[in-house]
Amino acid sequence: MHDLRSRRAWFLDRDGTLTLDDRKLPGADAFLDAVRATGATATVVTNNSSKSPDRHLANLRAAGLDLAPDEVLVSIQAALAHLAARGIRRLHLVANAEVTAWTAAQGFDVGTADPQAALLAYDTEMTYAKMLALIARLRAGLPYFATHIDMLCPTREGPVPDIGTMLSAIELATGRRPERTFGKPSADMVRPVLEARGLTMADAVIVGDRLYTDIALAQGTDMLSVLVLTGETTRAMHDASPVKASLVADDLRDLAAWIGGRRSH
Ligand SMILES: [Mg+2]
Repeated sequence: MHDLRSRRAWFLDRDGTLTLDDRKLPGADAFLDAVRATGATATVVTNNSSKSPDRHLANLRAAGLDLAPDEVLVSIQAALAHLAARGIRRLHLVANAEVTAWTAAQGFDVGTADPQAALLAYDTEMTYAKMLALIARLRAGLPYFATHIDMLCPTREGPVPDIGTMLSAIELATGRRPERTFGKPSADMVRPVLEARGLTMADAVIVGDRLYTDIALAQGTDMLSVLVLTGETTRAMHDASPVKASLVADDLRDLAAWIGGRRSH
């Protein structure tokens, strides 16, 4: 038995865990209520850089979930924090129009002819011309970063190609992989939240539907991980995987009941 009620910081995946497209999944409200009733915080950490942080927050609120701006973190925020700390402000950014505009509003020059680095986001408006322009920059040796690594994004119509499919195409064309990526399973998104509150991985839990991003984040650390079966992973896939969750829940209703002590896991 793991003592879920003593954990101070819960991190929650979005797509396939909390919502599917823009609809909340069963138990999402009950889960947030159960976490907050223990005095812990709940922070959504999403790799999905096809939406700005503002859009994610608006969508989650429209779905009926009660979240504050600092309770939603997106991979591109960790990417931009890292690049800014290295003095990189001029970007060859490959992203959709919404995320490009949001990045410009954070003080980055995204229209420059003289970029310091290339940053690939989950560009839902990717075109062959954009791919060619990025590949030309990479062949010329420009430093290369990507917000995250996910191969597929779950939707109601089934999984659709995510950034990882673009990373693979670029690697086939140029032989280059990003020198760094920032979304889960990197701890780059959760560590600043914990450090700001004087907490460690031993105070935290990650909840998600995917083994190689969400659950892998906790591997080799004292963080607990909970796999929910509402996204891309089945119990059989978990059983066969070397990446193991601390707990497996059918959905957030189960997890809410465990946290509330109404049922044991
Ligand atoms: Mg997910």
